[in-house]
Amino acid sequence: MLAAYYGYPSISTGDALREAVRKQPDLGKEAQKLMEAGVLVPDSLVDAIVKTRLLEGDSEAGFILDGYPRTLGQAEFFERLATQEGIEIRALGIMVDDEVLVERLSRRWNCPKCHKVYNAGLQPNRASGHCNECGSALIQRKDDRPEVIRERLQVYHQTTKPLVDFYQRRGQYVEVNGEAEVDQIFDSIVAILNREEQNRAAL
Ligand code: AMP
Repeated sequence: MLAAYYGYPSISTGDALREAVRKQPDLGKEAQKLMEAGVLVPDSLVDAIVKTRLLEGDSEAGFILDGYPRTLGQAEFFERLATQEGIEIRALGIMVDDEVLVERLSRRWNCPKCHKVYNAGLQPNRASGHCNECGSALIQRKDDRPEVIRERLQVYHQTTKPLVDFYQRRGQYVEVNGEAEVDQIFDSIVAILNREEQNRAAL
């Protein structure tokens, strides 16, 4: 929704990794094992994915990173890249209680083709088991099983949550309540970002 509103490309390191595993099963075996276990792949791998993707030339006006950075090392790497390339960073925290996340992820269905996400009740799909946009059969991710979801949450609390402090100290952090309705969450993010933009323009 944000990508469509701002006209920015949306870059998901998780989608890029799943695509790489699908296209090169031999090379991607190690990454696949880590992903299915709900733990992080090495920083060097995702740093290279992001750097290469940004060279494609469609992100000049802006871009949305989804699921990156997730470690302090990645945040430092991206900060150096941003300084070199004149990129202004906003880190967005969409906060949801762990139990609500376990519930949501267990009911999540994904389109393998256009990457649209469905969730009974929240973002329903119209035709049973198929994507509203492209008609592909929806799939459930292997790491959306309850025991793997809990592992991913633990990794988040230990390794990724400290990035809130990293971006707060730099004045680059904004946070919204992720337990509201999808449209409401979207509206609050756009309101915060547009308010910041107006304040900057007024300076
Ligand atoms: P996601 O689709 O963002 O939930 O990511 C799925 C899985 O891909 C994660 O559980 C990790 O194994 C891997 N992954 C995605 N992004 C990153 C990242 N920035 N750093 C390390 N591993 C990642």
